Amino acid sequence: MHGFTQDPAGECDCGKCLEDAVSRRRFLGSAAGAAALVAGVSFSGTAGAQSTMAPDDALDAMMEGNRRFTEGRLQSLNEDLSILKAKTAEKQEPFAAVLSCADSRVPVEFVFDQSIGQLFVVRVAGNIATPEIIASLEYGIAVLGARLLMVLGHSNCGAVKATIEGKAVPGQIGVLYTPIWPAVNEAGDNLDAAIDANARMQATLIGRSSTVVSAAVKEGKLKVVAARYDIASGVVSLLG
Ligand SMILES: [Zn+2]
Repeated sequence: MHGFTQDPAGECDCGKCLEDAVSRRRFLGSAAGAAALVAGVSFSGTAGAQSTMAPDDALDAMMEGNRRFTEGRLQSLNEDLSILKAKTAEKQEPFAAVLSCADSRVPVEFVFDQSIGQLFVVRVAGNIATPEIIASLEYGIAVLGARLLMVLGHSNCGAVKATIEGKAVPGQIGVLYTPIWPAVNEAGDNLDAAIDANARMQATLIGRSSTVVSAAVKEGKLKVVAARYDIASGVVSLLG
């Protein structure tokens, strides 16, 4: 049995654990470690699972799932959860990554009728592409093998609305304004137009600032799309 003192990372302070932790950090800090992570290779040396779906098929699967959602024909809830959990306990191979708003009316898996392990969802108010968000999406794409990256804005988005109004807000909420401002600057005070512009701009920003995303797109392994979710109808529309 190892020692009792746990550090915040969950490692105890016995010699064995400290040694493991140091070698793990060395691996992560090395070029080989970084390359192995990008290639989807786990620490044990086994290849990570990757979706074999083509990017266009991944988009079709999402849009078909949204049709089932709007027509009240959800299938994902009928799937056997115990089998799904058993299949995903040791690995995940989501076929799509989604950047959506944190809004409680945008339940991403429901909206696309997908179940456990199928979507890699990153949520933040205003679906903005900050460095941590881009890093998370890169993980979903480079390591887990997602074939589609969708930036999903939604109707009546409070974050975009607040940016248009520019009112004083408590705490740190105002930091959300800065990344949304370019879309408001382009679209003016029309909320729907600003929401669409924001989704498009965040998708473009990810493509430009992430070498992982741009390389995957160039190799035909990834498709990046911007879309809008209508919270009244449940319909997702792709933005050209
Ligand atoms: Zn929102």
